[in-house]
Amino acid sequence: MYFNSDTLAFVDGEFVKADDAQVGAYAQSLHYGYAVFEGIRSYATPGGTQIFKAREHYERLQYSCSSIGLPFTYSVEELTDITYQLLEKNGLSDAYIRPLVYAAAPNMTLKHATSSNLLIAVWDWGKYLGDQSLRLSISPYQRPNPKAVPIEAKVSGHYVNSIIASSEAKGRGYDEALLLDMNGFVAEGPGANFFFEKDGELFTAPAGSILRGITRNTIIDLAREAGIKVTEKFFTPAELQGATGAFFTGTAAEVVGIAAIDELEFSAPFSETLGAQLAELYKALVTGEVNAEKAELKA
Ligand code: PMP
Repeated sequence: MYFNSDTLAFVDGEFVKADDAQVGAYAQSLHYGYAVFEGIRSYATPGGTQIFKAREHYERLQYSCSSIGLPFTYSVEELTDITYQLLEKNGLSDAYIRPLVYAAAPNMTLKHATSSNLLIAVWDWGKYLGDQSLRLSISPYQRPNPKAVPIEAKVSGHYVNSIIASSEAKGRGYDEALLLDMNGFVAEGPGANFFFEKDGELFTAPAGSILRGITRNTIIDLAREAGIKVTEKFFTPAELQGATGAFFTGTAAEVVGIAAIDELEFSAPFSETLGAQLAELYKALVTGEVNAEKAELKA
């Protein structure tokens, strides 16, 4: 699914066969989850393949490295350029891009790495969670304490919590988990931010226990431009009573409707919610339709 014998990956300055991108069994990252990554999308647009918000993603990758003391010297421009080359070499437009910065050196100590390695992998991408509205369940696993590993960094080790929360919800027959923070407020999904709609307004968790996603920021901007009020606040699951709709946002998931959370069913079908309108606006933005229209107006 991710690669075949022809696929190329970028590893430490070279384009190599994905088959040959290996890591040794004594790598520090493998033992301790001491690595950081990004999830980025590219889209076929009227102006050719476009990586959506490459700068924001690669700046977050740099921030993630510095927050855990992983040395990393690539600039945003270099990373973006390499990614476009890699997409082209693999003949991909609608793709998922996975940069990973890791410490491959054999090292069993608990000291910062003194060097790092970079993998960029790309693969063909449709929709991550499918088009159907999701049925969520509140997870018995909470988001990690923000005073531990920096919560706004995309650190590989964080995702153990996401794996167990998501698998636990699926094991009980739900589509996905919804995680609370350590104070019992609704935080986010295992790999996506959460919004709900009530009385024609949108609400989402503030910074604190969430990854403030790049898609979340984009959706907040699009909503405000469309005259929709968005409030960032802490809220409990009880405050979701009376909500008309809800949705997840994320680079991979884009905007995905939520039909129910445990016994709570949202009153409107997703297609009639603000989330569905924003999903359309988001799609137009990432596929360049908006830009193309603007360009036409100028011409
Ligand atoms: N929260 C978590 C925990 C995530 O892993 C992701 C995916 N990166 C998101 C939110 C959404 O972030 P973004 O919109 O930047 O993809």
